Amino acid sequence: MQHESPPDAWSEARATMVREQIAGRGIRDPRVLAALARVPRHELVPEAQREYAYEDQPLPIGYEQTISQPFVVAYMTEQLQLRGDERVLEIGTGSGYQAAVLSLLAREVYSIEIVKELGERARADLARLGYANVHVRVGDGYRGWPEQAPFDAIIVTAAPGHVPQPLIDQLAVGGRLVLPVGGYDQELLRIERDATGLRREHLIGVRFVPMRGEAQTRE
Ligand code: SAH
Repeated sequence: MQHESPPDAWSEARATMVREQIAGRGIRDPRVLAALARVPRHELVPEAQREYAYEDQPLPIGYEQTISQPFVVAYMTEQLQLRGDERVLEIGTGSGYQAAVLSLLAREVYSIEIVKELGERARADLARLGYANVHVRVGDGYRGWPEQAPFDAIIVTAAPGHVPQPLIDQLAVGGRLVLPVGGYDQELLRIERDATGLRREHLIGVRFVPMRGEAQTRE
């Protein structure tokens, strides 16, 4: 389209973002860095936010929701330790950006979004951009996606006040769950299931929008 910057300006902005905000802050997994260098984040944010797409900040995507800061997307993705053959579940599709990043790093991505308009928009955008291994469903992600379980990795991008048990139940042996838990101030947890049980690790402080639906009625 005529009014847009030439494509190389966007990839240059993306390369700078990866170098300064992502690699520069300690993300090492080369596959994660390559995925962030490829996904056209500016195509997944609302028109009015495009010029800020590669800035070091979260951005509004409508319906009072936000797309996370690129560093947080990279950090959580690295914690999932994806090698390419995994089945991944995401709760909180939002713009579809995190799902697009995951789609380059895993075999199949299942993503659930509670706001119908966002879910439908993300589904259309992801299809338009060719991310054919992402499956978006509109609904409450609290109970996961039992028909597609178990998952090798689960990522939650809205914060519940507690860890939803159904998500733990849908974690494969060897699987990793990364999620923010808490109220206004939250912490990112990584829960891993091995043959003997669950291992829980506290990562960093984060701030996500609250998980809506069943998570809130069970506080
Ligand atoms: N991963 C997204 C970030 C979206 S912000 C991205 O890359 O853009 C969090 C999203 O979680 C919002 O779109 C919000 O509507 C959604 N959400 C909140 N509670 C939810 C729930 N219970 N189930 C599914 N999605 C939920």
